[in-house]
Amino acid sequence: MRCMKDLIIFTDLDGSLLDDETYRASPADSLFETLNTQGIPVVFNSSKTFPEMLKIRRSMGNHQPFVVENGSAVYVPLDHEIAGTKGLEPAHSYLRCVLGVSHQRIKDFVNSAGEAFKYTALTQMSEAECASVTGLSGYDVLMAQTREFSEPLLWRDSEASLKKLSDMALSEGLRLVMGGRFVHLMGDTDKNLAQRWLVNRMRLVHEKDYKIMALGDSENDAQMLADADYPVLIRSERHGFPDIETKSPVYRTKRTGPSGWYEAVRTIVLRELI
Ligand SMILES: [Mg+2]
Repeated sequence: MRCMKDLIIFTDLDGSLLDDETYRASPADSLFETLNTQGIPVVFNSSKTFPEMLKIRRSMGNHQPFVVENGSAVYVPLDHEIAGTKGLEPAHSYLRCVLGVSHQRIKDFVNSAGEAFKYTALTQMSEAECASVTGLSGYDVLMAQTREFSEPLLWRDSEASLKKLSDMALSEGLRLVMGGRFVHLMGDTDKNLAQRWLVNRMRLVHEKDYKIMALGDSENDAQMLADADYPVLIRSERHGFPDIETKSPVYRTKRTGPSGWYEAVRTIVLRELI
């Protein structure tokens, strides 16, 4: 049996590994055991917060490092092989590398610059409002609102205004990134920088030239995919494929969400395994 060696899979969650509406991972999750047996780590890289990530990792039995809030920080389990490397700080019983800026800094910017625009900040929404926008309920709403490094904005203004806010953010060393439901205001980082940081650490510790597969469905996944050896665009029912500039051949799934995830990993990674 030939095996795809030294591969790391980075994946977006909403609309990619998880269904956009139901937040379920089936049938993608049926491949986790095989990937685990083959020693292929699956790293979650999404706009979700630390508590949201903990819950999802737990429910899927995932023990890998993970990237929160669109590349704002990489969390590493204390017993992970890269835990001994430099530049990590302890946080919430994990080690982390922060690539973004504090939520307070984002809030200060929103308060000073944001008054001229029409939007609703996620952390300012009532539970009911947040629930109706995200489809989340109860404690999940609170977890989504526990932002450490970014602020999702539900945009209610024109494209031109969005561009204006984006320019203002850039001049302050911040970024505005398009997600599935929200635009995300955050520090000068992205999913790709976090992915690169983690891959470099893995290469250093293991002295292996890891190949990278990255899966995502939105514009905020484009850089992470562009940097991967095996970029996978997951088809969406809400929007078209985002533009992506890369030398590697891009796999565009026929199916949407976790079915597309399953299709791509089965086709590219496990074709030689099963
Ligand atoms: Mg997505």
